[in-house]
Amino acid sequence: MHDHRTAAGDSAGPALPTACDAAGAGPAGASGAAPEKEAAEVRRFWGRLGLPGLVDVHTHFMPERVMHKVWDYFEARGPLIDGLEWPITYRRQEAERTALLRQFGVRAFTAMLYPHKPDMARWLNGWAVDFARRTPDCLHTATLYPEPGIESYVREGIEAGARVFKAHVQVGAYDPADELLDRAWGVLAETGTPVVLHCGSGPAPGEHTGPEPVARVLARHPKLRLVIAHMGMPEYEEFLDLAERYEQVRLDTTMAFTDFTEGFLPFPRRALPRLSALGDRILLGSDFPNIPYPYVHQLHALERLGLGPEWLRAVCHDNATELFGL
Ligand SMILES: [Zn+2]
Repeated sequence: MHDHRTAAGDSAGPALPTACDAAGAGPAGASGAAPEKEAAEVRRFWGRLGLPGLVDVHTHFMPERVMHKVWDYFEARGPLIDGLEWPITYRRQEAERTALLRQFGVRAFTAMLYPHKPDMARWLNGWAVDFARRTPDCLHTATLYPEPGIESYVREGIEAGARVFKAHVQVGAYDPADELLDRAWGVLAETGTPVVLHCGSGPAPGEHTGPEPVARVLARHPKLRLVIAHMGMPEYEEFLDLAERYEQVRLDTTMAFTDFTEGFLPFPRRALPRLSALGDRILLGSDFPNIPYPYVHQLHALERLGLGPEWLRAVCHDNATELFGL
């Protein structure tokens, strides 16, 4: 959930960053647990399920300068919801963050990144090519924005090996059904490339968030492999409607069901049977590293839904390995 519109500001433009802000790497994180101890807890979770590890479809890696601006924004306290504290648990250098995911046993993860203005997506995609090259367990991620040239850079991204796209309706402040995006959605649908879309109105609404514009996109591109980020919070049920209607629509669990989110955008208990029925289309997402609690809490939050080990195995591993052909 990264509204870094203000945070990323105008300085996060297309120029390549010249230095990575090592100075911003914080202390051991707010979880209080030593990495080894927390890693052991995460591994116990998937070990108990008989899984070979986890696949996390919603983790953030971005150029360091952009990442630090996102962190500063969250930690400034209450930019999204007045007074809400959002300490970044994993405010560490990139190499430490990838190492930690590996210690957790996350076999594959993504590098969710997204522009908040024109002429930025191509630059981010260039960075992501390099990140994927040096991070073999990262599912090469790309992004887009409604602007001239989008169709060609989306095609180029796929040709360069992108396996998933990320788009953020609230940060980008655009209508996902914008005409400029139409051809790009077409290319992604036709190539079967999944798109993680932050389109729900939580934690903060935007002019174009909510299910209605997404329904218009799907009416035109019913085969689009859309992954609704954050379970579509807070419009959980409306986005479940779309997943029930379109068989290529999936949802990621990112931050949903956690104590943090349940405190202000609770998932409606009456929709639990629908979660169970859609068990083959829900994918583990965490928002690592930008989360205000330890990683393992997302896993425990899924477990306490009480949907059983088979559901957890599908959500935490099998659905994503199938989707990405891992
Ligand atoms: Zn996110």
